[in-house]
Amino acid sequence: MGIVVVGTVAFDTVETPFGKGENVLGGSATYFSTAASFFSEVSLVAVVGEDFPEEHVAFLRSREINLAGLQRIPGRTFHWSGRYGYDLNEAQTLDTQLNVLLAFKPQLPPAYRETDVLFLANIDPELQLEVLDQVTAPRLVACDSMNFWISSKPAALREVIKRVDIVLINEGEARMLTGEPNLIKAARSIIAMGCKRLVVKRGEYGVLMFTADTVFAAPAYPLEEVFDPTGAGDTFAGGFMGYLANTGDLSEEGIRQALVFGAVMASFNVEAFSLDRMKRLTYREIEARYRSFRQLTSFRDLPAP
Ligand code: AMP
Repeated sequence: MGIVVVGTVAFDTVETPFGKGENVLGGSATYFSTAASFFSEVSLVAVVGEDFPEEHVAFLRSREINLAGLQRIPGRTFHWSGRYGYDLNEAQTLDTQLNVLLAFKPQLPPAYRETDVLFLANIDPELQLEVLDQVTAPRLVACDSMNFWISSKPAALREVIKRVDIVLINEGEARMLTGEPNLIKAARSIIAMGCKRLVVKRGEYGVLMFTADTVFAAPAYPLEEVFDPTGAGDTFAGGFMGYLANTGDLSEEGIRQALVFGAVMASFNVEAFSLDRMKRLTYREIEARYRSFRQLTSFRDLPAP
């Protein structure tokens, strides 16, 4: 099974306590598709402007990402500026310049429409809905979003949530979306909006995955050096969905294993600025970290009563 992803391909200007990157490669679809490409075929649907350098397109191509759905239109590429303090869990958005995103009409090339797996990465929920209308019979659809869209397009976002299988969202955004301070109650209320499963990303505290009657927790991999959390959520989603697309195993166990691959991929991404760590990552390193992740979280059961 391959994956189709729609989202942003961006220039980011990011400041963390450890340095600053100006106009570096970013975007939800960029991080997602790079991470997913370690496990599965990926087809990208996004828009860039005339200012987007060929060097970045060449990088995506080097990951064997299918770029037939990457449009280049007149104007400037989407640009996000953000800052992180010593608490690296939540970005503070300083500026969002939608630019070419304002004119973007996502068009799935005919071969993409029959995809089994669709990921609606963080982008305008109205565009996410347009993409949902173009796919024929996907087996698995997931979406992400963020505070910017929760406050500007709440109705469209609720419609997206109603139509997908899995929602991935940050802890703060889960609270914001529902107006519910307790995370467990917020999770119930998001599932009541119509999705089957919810993954709440909690930065360095890991993730919680909810269905109507189960909860699963995975920690974040403990790291001594975290340079730039930008893209951690999208990289997490790329590892998670990429692994699921690869195995096709949508059992509870299969989904839990995929979630750990998501955590593993995110842990690499935060070790360097932009996609720098992903550019030199190998599959062997991914497997090694998965194994040490397993040791980190396994403990013996109690003897039978
Ligand atoms: P995250 O994985 O949540 O850290 O996402 C980081 C990426 O999201 C950055 O590379 C940004 O380019 C992108 N981004 C920031 N704001 C938005 C937005 N409003 N819509 C879509 N993508 C965004």
